[in-house]
Amino acid sequence: MAIDNNCTNPSPNAPTPSRPRFSAPNIIVLCGTVIALAMVGLCALVLYQGRLDALERARDTSRNLALLAERDIERNFELYELSLQAVVEGVHRADVSALPPQLRNDVLFDRAATARDLGSILVLDVNGNIVIDSGSIVPRPANFADRRYFTVQRDHPDTGLFISSPFASRLRGGAPSIALSRRLSNPDGSFAGVAMLAINLEYFRTLFAGLSLGPHGAVSLISQDGMMIMRQPFDAQIIGRDITHADTYKRFRKAAQGSFSETSSLDGRRRLYYFRNFPKLPLIIMVAEGEEDVYAAWHRRAVIIGSSMGVLAIGFIILSFVLAAQFRRRMRAESELQLLARTDGLTGLHNRRTLGEILDQEWRRARRTRSLFSLLFVDIDRFKAFNDAYGHQAGDDALAAVARCIGDNIRRPADTAARYGGEEFIVVLPDTPTEGAARIAERIRAAISDLSIEHAGSEFGRVTASIGLASWRPERDDDVSTLIRAADEALYDAKASGRNRVMQAGPV
Ligand code: GH3
Ligand code: MG
Ligand code: MG
Repeated sequence: MAIDNNCTNPSPNAPTPSRPRFSAPNIIVLCGTVIALAMVGLCALVLYQGRLDALERARDTSRNLALLAERDIERNFELYELSLQAVVEGVHRADVSALPPQLRNDVLFDRAATARDLGSILVLDVNGNIVIDSGSIVPRPANFADRRYFTVQRDHPDTGLFISSPFASRLRGGAPSIALSRRLSNPDGSFAGVAMLAINLEYFRTLFAGLSLGPHGAVSLISQDGMMIMRQPFDAQIIGRDITHADTYKRFRKAAQGSFSETSSLDGRRRLYYFRNFPKLPLIIMVAEGEEDVYAAWHRRAVIIGSSMGVLAIGFIILSFVLAAQFRRRMRAESELQLLARTDGLTGLHNRRTLGEILDQEWRRARRTRSLFSLLFVDIDRFKAFNDAYGHQAGDDALAAVARCIGDNIRRPADTAARYGGEEFIVVLPDTPTEGAARIAERIRAAISDLSIEHAGSEFGRVTASIGLASWRPERDDDVSTLIRAADEALYDAKASGRNRVMQAGPV
């Protein structure tokens, strides 16, 4: 027999498991994630520190290489300058000039003139022609009036030592060279010519080739007015190029020395630059390591450590989720078990054991607060006959439908409905006076009747219930069982006076 009824909602009074926001599984996941993130953060910090260390080491290496090259160049230039100075002084001495050419050359040009990377040492007259030549007793016929090392000395008497830009030597088959020149003056200060010394650029090339800078490193010697004198890796096209417009050059001129990262204007590669302006010469040395070389070892290490740490952290988080899920399953099973232990399986209402606890708790509260307390005893009428007529399963369905009706008609959170046993229910109504309880009882009675569950064995032709109501007055000092008994007696009266009705107990 199908039971169609109006009380279809699950009972609002059915016990439900509580779900705290900070439950143990959530805390496990939170802790796992925080620990994993802390591990990753720590690893990132260590790797970042390693990167800074790599940068610092590269800076130190570049600085040391620059200093080494600078010392070598300065020492050689000092020797070249002394040789040139000796020529200037010798030329001004009448006794030296009067010597036979071979002897005069021996006096003017010391052994330094035969150094490997030194070109010719020449004395030029006012017109730029060679008058004394370290490479030949009879001066080679050549004119250098167009060279800047000549014109600068001629036009600017106060120049002192002049270092030229790179040029192709006319006497040495176009060998790339730079020249040092000094002015020769007559006693009255007028221009008397120039003493010059040519240095083969091969000297710098050999010097720079000996510096180990990694596969993408570069080292350059630049004149302070922006001419590229030598660069390693060597490219003949770059030598003598004006780089005054390059960003790197502009930064070289801003400070005596320093380091920075920049993309090279020559080959587009990003490098860590270290530069130094020579303190005594108009030259700049620049040592640069390719950033990929600087960080190569660090990068390899970072990939291995970073990916291991990443895998470890993800594993840790997954583990905490798995652990939390297991914990959650266990907690759910426990709470379901707890719920089952507190719930009546057929009706979903509180069972008798829970009813005992609730009654005890509410009774004590009512006594404490001296508030009115009501109780309904609900009993289905002629239910034995219903079972006999329609079968036990239909009886169960009717019981569940009646339970839903009872649950639906108590709305306050403190109100509780429970199955007392068989086809009997108890409704606990804390803080509710008799009139209010009577209204609720009547509502329940009417709702059960309105279910219109056919019951041929009943005088009403449908399933009905009788309800006994008892209220407790605060001034009395009774036990809760007295109240139950009173409600039961009222129920008995309801049965006796015709069923399907609500009866109130006398004052308890
Ligand atoms: P009254 O109007 O006087 O209350 O008559 P009644 O037949 O309802 O009362 P009685 O106490 O004699 O019978 C109660 C019956 O309720 C007995 C049993 O057949 C039925 N019953 C009790 N518990 C269950 C249950 O869990 N399922 C079903 N189907 N029937 C039950
Ligand atoms: Mg009964
Ligand atoms: Mg009954």
